[in-house]
Amino acid sequence: MRRLAGQKLVVATHNAGKLEEIRAMLAPFGVEVTSAGELGLDEPDETEDSFLGNALIKARAACATTGLPVLADDSGITVDGLNGAPGVYTADWAETPDGRDFVQAMTRTWDELEAAGAAEPRTAQFRCTLVLMWPDGHHEVFEGIAPGRLVWPMRGAQGHGYDPMFVPDGHDVTYAEMPPEEKNRISHRADAFRKLEAALA
Ligand code: IMP
Repeated sequence: MRRLAGQKLVVATHNAGKLEEIRAMLAPFGVEVTSAGELGLDEPDETEDSFLGNALIKARAACATTGLPVLADDSGITVDGLNGAPGVYTADWAETPDGRDFVQAMTRTWDELEAAGAAEPRTAQFRCTLVLMWPDGHHEVFEGIAPGRLVWPMRGAQGHGYDPMFVPDGHDVTYAEMPPEEKNRISHRADAFRKLEAALA
């Protein structure tokens, strides 16, 4: 792992909440963090069919524009009974002319499992791929996974996205029924960031 301490790092996100979480996480490592949003960078189209491919697009675009090391991520849910769908299209399944509607996305996911006659338990995985890239193209990849199963009807009011239909392994409640601190401890994102922190340490 190349040294990052003392360097400025660009987080390839326009999401202020995500940026603050990452800034806090990297603070002990002496890394000064800014973001694509703060720098007013364009968001590139995510045209690849893998989480890694799309994280690499975001990382390369921000590296090329800034000449600085970049941390990019991509995440979503893969459902075994749907051959890995929605996968990289997780957010797309929620798109409507009036913005994102995750009830629509979850309903579609369950309807497609029913139509496919998928066996129970309907296993699925939240996945998070992190790419840390240097301007010369050298990069390191950290992959986080949270295995679990999908349930219906939706349960819980915490969280976001597909949380109300996802019960992580070893639990009886959905991500949306858990206190956020608990979800953040066991999530796919936490898993990926633990691997990044271990490499930085
Ligand atoms: P992105 O990586 O921020 O683009 O997220 C892709 C999509 O995956 C989000 O819009 C959510 O729909 C979904 N997603 C990622 N992480 C979670 C999670 O922790 N809970 C629920 N949905 C998630």
